[in-house]
Amino acid sequence: MNKSLRKAVIAGNWKMNKTPAETTALINEMKPLVADADCDVVLCVPYVDIFAAVEAAKGSNIKIGAENCHWAASGAFTGEVSAEMLKACGVEYVITGHSERRTYFGDTDVTVHDRTRAALDNGLNVILCVGEYLEQREQNITMEVVRSQVKIALAGVSEEELGKVIIAYEPVWAIGTGKTATADQAEEVCKAIRDLICELYSKEAADKFVVQYGGSMNAKNADELVDKEDVDGGLIGGASLKAPDFAAIVKAASK
Ligand code: PEP
Repeated sequence: MNKSLRKAVIAGNWKMNKTPAETTALINEMKPLVADADCDVVLCVPYVDIFAAVEAAKGSNIKIGAENCHWAASGAFTGEVSAEMLKACGVEYVITGHSERRTYFGDTDVTVHDRTRAALDNGLNVILCVGEYLEQREQNITMEVVRSQVKIALAGVSEEELGKVIIAYEPVWAIGTGKTATADQAEEVCKAIRDLICELYSKEAADKFVVQYGGSMNAKNADELVDKEDVDGGLIGGASLKAPDFAAIVKAASK
């Protein structure tokens, strides 16, 4: 496997933070700091901030994503937003399967699959999140959990469509907790995901496939994590809310 075949992706996940005015200010602060990035830069923002984000990012190398999408095209789904609506607002990426959606909002492997399908059907790039709970790691079933999440989410996704999918390996115990997986733990699972892509698709597809790490990645630990052979950047929560911190992670992934 050859890391040089892939361009790293650093994606921010703002979660439920920032008003539209704060969005404009933060993106304006970030733009000059990440302008020289030698990696793809994405910011996934709350639905209500999408217009402000798309407008602020115009003409820059920052791409805008959403944090979720519904699986149906339209209909009686109060409070939900479809992939088609996101696309129409200028969104290029969408996160599916984030552990906070799985834990607090009842997302299952099957609904994650359906949301991923809808995003791909609408030409969006998908950041598909997978990862184990602490108890599952302690039971030594991390690989089974992650393999099963990936297999179900990608069922029916063609090798061509796979070009629009990134997987973010996010151990749930490391998200928002300040506890980062060690670089070796991150590498072990990211490599296993790439091996699974090879098994399900082809070596060529696996070589090109972007696998990120996510979970308390910050300006201090980013270097060591993104240096690993199978870690192609990161999905960043807390540290994506501060321009200098996010820019430092982008810099680490640009080496
Ligand atoms: C995330 O929200 O995907 C995430 C990794 O959060 P944090 O960086 O805050 O752990």
